[in-house]
Amino acid sequence: MDFIDLKRQQKRIKDFIDQRIQEVLRHGQYINGPEVSELEARLASYVGVKHALGCSSGTDALLMALMAFGVGPGDAIFTTPFTFVATAEVITLVGATPIFVDIDPATFNIDAAKLELAIEALKSSDPKVYPLPLPASDQAGNLRPRGVIPVDLFGLPADYDRIVSIAGEFGLFVIEDAAQAFGAEYKGEKACSFGNIGCTSFFPAKPLGCYGDGGMCFTDNDESADIMRSIQVHGKGEHKYDNVRIGINGRLDTLQAAILLAKLDIFPEEVELRQLVADRYTQLIGSCSMLRAPRVPKGYKSAWAQYSVLPRNGAERSVLQDELKRIGVPTAVYYPMPLHAQTAYAYLGYKTGDFPVSESISQQIFSLPMHPYLEPAEQETVLAAISASSMINYHDRRCSKEFVL
Ligand SMILES: *Cc1c(COP(=O)(O)O)cnc(C)c1O
Repeated sequence: MDFIDLKRQQKRIKDFIDQRIQEVLRHGQYINGPEVSELEARLASYVGVKHALGCSSGTDALLMALMAFGVGPGDAIFTTPFTFVATAEVITLVGATPIFVDIDPATFNIDAAKLELAIEALKSSDPKVYPLPLPASDQAGNLRPRGVIPVDLFGLPADYDRIVSIAGEFGLFVIEDAAQAFGAEYKGEKACSFGNIGCTSFFPAKPLGCYGDGGMCFTDNDESADIMRSIQVHGKGEHKYDNVRIGINGRLDTLQAAILLAKLDIFPEEVELRQLVADRYTQLIGSCSMLRAPRVPKGYKSAWAQYSVLPRNGAERSVLQDELKRIGVPTAVYYPMPLHAQTAYAYLGYKTGDFPVSESISQQIFSLPMHPYLEPAEQETVLAAISASSMINYHDRRCSKEFVL
């Protein structure tokens, strides 16, 4: 069993992918070919925003969004410590300071109430209101709150109604990190449409993945779109050799756009298939008292990049992961260590205990195999193994009864 099986998808659409690739080889426009603008137009319409901009990766999409707001030294950007490192990395790369805000234990996404506390703590330079990084405490009020980067973790959008309203109250921008959530929805709107700029990733394992690196920025704002188009090509002005600002090389390859176009034809169906796979897992876990299934609040649709479960503690996680590995079922831990505990972010001076929810969930959580083509029988094998090991180790009969095959 594969954790994310890309081969089954490829088998289904191989001819279309081959045709699209052949077309690129025929016209030879490997940079900014017609496939890039075709993909941008189709994804802008899918997401329901005015502008879409193909990027070299999800990380570069986030970086260009921050650069478009002119973020730099002295700026504070609020985000979650329970995410892939790229979310915080781009903040540090532009010289700004990440301010971490703990997550909601039900959704694993940034906690809006704590976001408000963290903004107030920074404005009053008072770490007693909410834990602050050392640079903020040192500079006593010299750090300006500028923006928020909520993450749609595992494919579930963050609480945008509350986050956007809090951001508005304090004059902050919102950049949505939807790297894991392309295809997800919140109150009938698609992921990547929330806040000022939405960013996604086409890394192969993401819900819509290419065969290499890729990403996209989405916005309704004409000015942000223009600035990002310039940043993307080394800060170009009227033409390529007129450089009006500092930029990067942030383009999406034509070949990757071509592959994404072939995959896009079946993507809406794959989002539905992921939902069916998630529903089957949740139903199987329903009778198993030792695991907590992921929660999707009313009004939300997850893109199910990951199906992450919570055993009762870290020891149970090891037992379950070992047992699954023994029978050939791969699992993964996203994320074993929250960012404030990482060596690279030690300079922020956060302490253990500053973000207790992220800390405890990172000790417990693990993810089961997840992709649109997972068969019911495979899912039953996974849950049978979980229930068997719980019977052996914990005599959890409520769980085991349902799953003896
Ligand atoms: C994957 C990911 C990114 C980075 O995307 P890349 O395309 O790998 O650069 C950023 N944020 C989150 C939450 C991610 O999962």
